[in-house]
Amino acid sequence: MYASLSDRISDSFKKLRGKGVLRDSDVDQTVGEIRRALIDADVALPVVREFAQRVREQAYGAARSKSLNPAQQVVKIVNQELVEILGGETRELTFAQRGPTVFMLAGLQGAGKTTFAGKLGKWLAEDGKRVLLVASDLQRPNAVTQLQIVGERAGVDVWAPEPGNGVGDPVEVARSGLSHAIRNGYDVVLVDTAGRLGVDEELMEQARQIRDAVNPHEIMFVLDAMIGQDAVHTATAFKDGVGFTGVVLTKLDGDARGGAALSVRGVTGAPILFASTGEGIKDIERFHADRMASRILDMGDMLTLIEQAEKAFDAKESEEMTGKLLSGQFTLDDFLTQMQQIRKLGSMKKMLGMLPGAGKIREQLENFDEREIDRIEAIVKSMTPAERANVKLLDGSRRERIARGSGTSVSDVKGLVTRFEAAQKMMKSVGNGGGIPGMGNIPG
Ligand code: GDP
Repeated sequence: MYASLSDRISDSFKKLRGKGVLRDSDVDQTVGEIRRALIDADVALPVVREFAQRVREQAYGAARSKSLNPAQQVVKIVNQELVEILGGETRELTFAQRGPTVFMLAGLQGAGKTTFAGKLGKWLAEDGKRVLLVASDLQRPNAVTQLQIVGERAGVDVWAPEPGNGVGDPVEVARSGLSHAIRNGYDVVLVDTAGRLGVDEELMEQARQIRDAVNPHEIMFVLDAMIGQDAVHTATAFKDGVGFTGVVLTKLDGDARGGAALSVRGVTGAPILFASTGEGIKDIERFHADRMASRILDMGDMLTLIEQAEKAFDAKESEEMTGKLLSGQFTLDDFLTQMQQIRKLGSMKKMLGMLPGAGKIREQLENFDEREIDRIEAIVKSMTPAERANVKLLDGSRRERIARGSGTSVSDVKGLVTRFEAAQKMMKSVGNGGGIPGMGNIPG
């Protein structure tokens, strides 16, 4: 799911990579691209608009601050706002203080209500609850049978009218189901209601009557994540017609554009409680906004990495460093400090391994030599303070002395000086701000 949205967002992040400085125009471009990607993924316009505005404002701030790599800051902001759209903190389910808890499922026909009833039943049963599924969907001829099969698979009891008994009142079935649950000490009653192919008043009225008959602790609106822009319309209709306390997104395993998921919280204000990710009874997950966001952004453990980087490079140090860079006073000592800071992040390999798309750079990972930092350290430490401050002093005989002192070769020393000078030059050209040298291309 979200493959195309993911690809497009990471493409736009890619363009920011390696930029030590972000200009407002870079921010505008990135936000514009993400905005279009969201619209193409069928996310509702008002949601996209608010998202874009919030990201843009904060990203301007990040671009102007001289903190960590600003491109990483933008990734972080986009992630935070995505988590926000998806509902922020995961909400706990509401259970009754005493007596059975009632969960009612509502939604269009085919949304996956009955399938989900079975999954939720099993999920709750595994948590030690005694669950009763109530078949209040009498609309479809085989709905009751389907629920019975589902209940059997889930290993939970089902309350249903006898087939062919002429019992046609779903409200009555719900009411009697609840009484049965109370009498028999069930912990949770799951009421499956009828859906239609489209929203209609009769359906809403029936759902309202069932709701009023059983007083649910949660009304879960079951929404097929693949239905595109229609999702917003349907969700609003159910919100107004019956009301609900939470949303269940089904068919998140499909690869539709999936904007529904991203719109429904913003449009209805109700939290997404569960995700259904397949036809199997175990394909159910509690919905976590943060995890979904990082899935969409395809970030691997990128955020962990950014957080660790922030910890390793404390703000004051990084400000000092930026100052030195700006005034062109960046020395080999500073270069060494930076290398050592990078090492604080853990081994270089582990760090690179956390990056999304790490598979592609596996080969480079294999060839990365951790001892390189040791070598740099040894070389720098064999220099005099004057040499560290000014590499121009390093003539042939000094290089030879340093190579001997550090147990490296003259060409190692030369190589370091060349790389340092290139870094210094790059820093100067970066000009008025900047990321941490050596960090500049980390998100790639
Ligand atoms: P209801 O009319 O709302 O009760 O919908 P059903 O539970 O009968 O589901 C309709 C169809 O969607 C069935 O074929 C289910 O197997 C399928 N379905 C339900 N949930 C999922 C899901 O999470 N992923 C996939 N791929 N299919 C699902």
